[in-house]
Amino acid sequence: MLNFAVGPVMMDEIVLNIGNQQIPYFRTEEFSAITLECENILVGLANAPEMSRVIFLTGSGTAAMEAAVMNSLGQNDKILVVNGGSFGARFSKLCEIHGLVFEEIKLDYFEPLREDHLVPFDGKGFTAMLVNCHETSTGVLYDMELIKRFCETNRIFLIVDAISSFLADPYSMKDSGANITILSSQKALALPPGMSYIIADDKAQQRIQENAVQSLYFDLKNYLLDGQRGQTPYTPAVSIMTQLHARLKKIERRGVSGVIQDVAIIAEDFRKRIVGLPFEIASPNLSNALTPLKTLGEPNADVVVRGLKDDYGIFVLPSGGNLSKSLFRVGHIGNISIEDNIVLIDALKSINLR
Ligand SMILES: *Cc1c(COP(=O)(O)O)cnc(C)c1O
Repeated sequence: MLNFAVGPVMMDEIVLNIGNQQIPYFRTEEFSAITLECENILVGLANAPEMSRVIFLTGSGTAAMEAAVMNSLGQNDKILVVNGGSFGARFSKLCEIHGLVFEEIKLDYFEPLREDHLVPFDGKGFTAMLVNCHETSTGVLYDMELIKRFCETNRIFLIVDAISSFLADPYSMKDSGANITILSSQKALALPPGMSYIIADDKAQQRIQENAVQSLYFDLKNYLLDGQRGQTPYTPAVSIMTQLHARLKKIERRGVSGVIQDVAIIAEDFRKRIVGLPFEIASPNLSNALTPLKTLGEPNADVVVRGLKDDYGIFVLPSGGNLSKSLFRVGHIGNISIEDNIVLIDALKSINLR
């Protein structure tokens, strides 16, 4: 089996071996030390400001998106959502469900965010902004520099979902001005799905403390408190925490820019090899994490996705809704080699010959 989805992705031997072990009890000093070290390393990798904290949530990335919205935003906020695909739409949905006041910058499929999209919202009293820095559904990577400038001039509280670009593209909380960064275990962290991580700067922590949240599990005050001693209020996905620890130590040894470069090399190699096949790269602003491919005529994208899975045991990502017949996406994160790329390209060639 080869998995070129963007999550879950293929894991390395170290992570796989930990998943094969018995799970230790976790209310121990040893486990607390692991959690605290994970917090430390994640803060460093995200280049988070001094005093930032990490909340370890057991739940997929959407759980962290919802927890971030519930805990750091409220009735006094006027929120701007960048909606360029299904993950942007998810932020809008969350604002709607939680009764928050919001407006959308609605982008077309594959449309990058530009200055002129932001201008109409300048000086209009917005207090918070929600953005997925890589809109995974279309493969568009947004210009964080542009967003940073807009948020700075408007004194906007910025929540960034960096789930699918973290460790695939350079990211810095300090440079992007993000107050909250959301991560998830199953993307470039290359761990099993089931955990998500919220990095909160001091402003975000203050908002969390002042917000009355109508939820037990998603009230992040308890996570901040227990996190001080390396614990979580409820049972975490213990084995994923242990795997995270091993993975972060490995990333630390390689260096974050090295890890990103490794992904970039796999992505670049794939994009070179795809030339000449009847597919067109769909987005002008790509993440290293993923290549979105439009099919030019036959076979349709859904036929390609199904054929790769059924005949070759290879997973790539299908697309939803209107894009299902015309777009499929190939991930470059996780434990993928150049040889794996060659196997995929050969399979794509034979599907096209049929
Ligand atoms: C994968 C992903 C998520 C998280 O989705 P879950 O299925 O809840 O883990 C959120 N945002 C983006 C941009 C993603 O790529």
